[in-house]
Amino acid sequence: MGKSALLVKGKKNNKQILLDYGAQTGREPSFPMHVQPKEIHSVLLTHAHLDHSGGVPLFFLREGVRLVTTGLSLELSILLLEDFIKLSGFYLPFEYIDLLTMEKNTERIAVNETREQLAGEFNVRFPSSGHIPGGTTVVVENEGKRVLYTGDINLQDSQLLKGADTDYGELDAVITESTYSQVDHEPREKIESDFVQFANEVVERGGILLVPAFSVGRAQEIACLLRARNFKHPVAMDGMALKANEILFRYQENLRDPELFRKAMENIEVVSGWSHRRKLVKTPSVIISPAGMLMGGASVFYNEHLALTERNGISIVAFQVPGTPGRTLLDKGLTLVNGKPAKVKAEVRRFDFSGHSGRGDLFDLISRVKGNPKVYAVHGDGSSCEKFASEITERFGYEASAPQIGDKIVV
Ligand SMILES: [Zn+2]
Ligand SMILES: [Zn+2]
Repeated sequence: MGKSALLVKGKKNNKQILLDYGAQTGREPSFPMHVQPKEIHSVLLTHAHLDHSGGVPLFFLREGVRLVTTGLSLELSILLLEDFIKLSGFYLPFEYIDLLTMEKNTERIAVNETREQLAGEFNVRFPSSGHIPGGTTVVVENEGKRVLYTGDINLQDSQLLKGADTDYGELDAVITESTYSQVDHEPREKIESDFVQFANEVVERGGILLVPAFSVGRAQEIACLLRARNFKHPVAMDGMALKANEILFRYQENLRDPELFRKAMENIEVVSGWSHRRKLVKTPSVIISPAGMLMGGASVFYNEHLALTERNGISIVAFQVPGTPGRTLLDKGLTLVNGKPAKVKAEVRRFDFSGHSGRGDLFDLISRVKGNPKVYAVHGDGSSCEKFASEITERFGYEASAPQIGDKIVV
């Protein structure tokens, strides 16, 4: 699953718009195929994750291009892009000031809003994606043809968000993500119950449960879940997740249950600094902290202090990229303490809280589509996209394929 970007050319005036323009993060970030800013009218951004937003500032090194996205996606993107610049700035062709130009040139739309006559020829609608707060899919209409781009999508309700809005009408083409097209998730209800039970077990045996979590979405999801299940023990939250909370507070109408969110936020202990952190690792509680893969952030500190004690626990609540400290912890039970590899003694468990639809739901999504669309499977690892495409043809009779980078498609 790499960086996502999709260039759409209109049939009327040949105007071009871009759907997402992500970055591959890592030591040396990389970007999708080069697109000249002067050749496009606008960038439409589905959501804040860097694999979709990470290259967007490249179009704002000077004025001229517009960004069209939800206000919430804009603010969360800026939060993540600032962090991206802090971590990888040396390798990036843009800097903080370009984010200001980007912000200034953004047309903020609401989830589900329709934007008519964009660039004089595109009618665009932004149905919710259920993937992360502020996230949408995009339906682009041009000269009577209608195309859906799912971005990242989740059909299921979570504690934080309602499942995707899939009322797309007739479509001529569907460009669908394929992340979990070959895997089904466990039922959400079971994952949630198992997680809360584990949290209770750890704290009640006098331990501390560390939940390394991505700042945007997953951290708040876990806090809402604990609140929804009346978790009785202290819950602390640290790092950039706290900044995301502040943004979400201003966009509560985007959440499934704003009251649950407010209660969850009132309930958490906000970590205020190093002396607070040192105190926290001595009292039984749940600590939710970025980074989600133990690469930097306060979760590294907590992990070092908690990993070598048996009564503690570590919950892995997101996909761990191979090669990250989180993945090594999960696969080998090893972690770094004071720079040296050590065998983890705390109880490590994985919970499959995904923001992406699993296999069954992706097929369900295709079955809900009206018309006789061509289907393009993207955003999965190579073989899974191809497999998913041929399965779609088998099940629904639609023409389906897994396009390669740089492929052109005529709708
Ligand atoms: Zn995403
Ligand atoms: Zn993605």
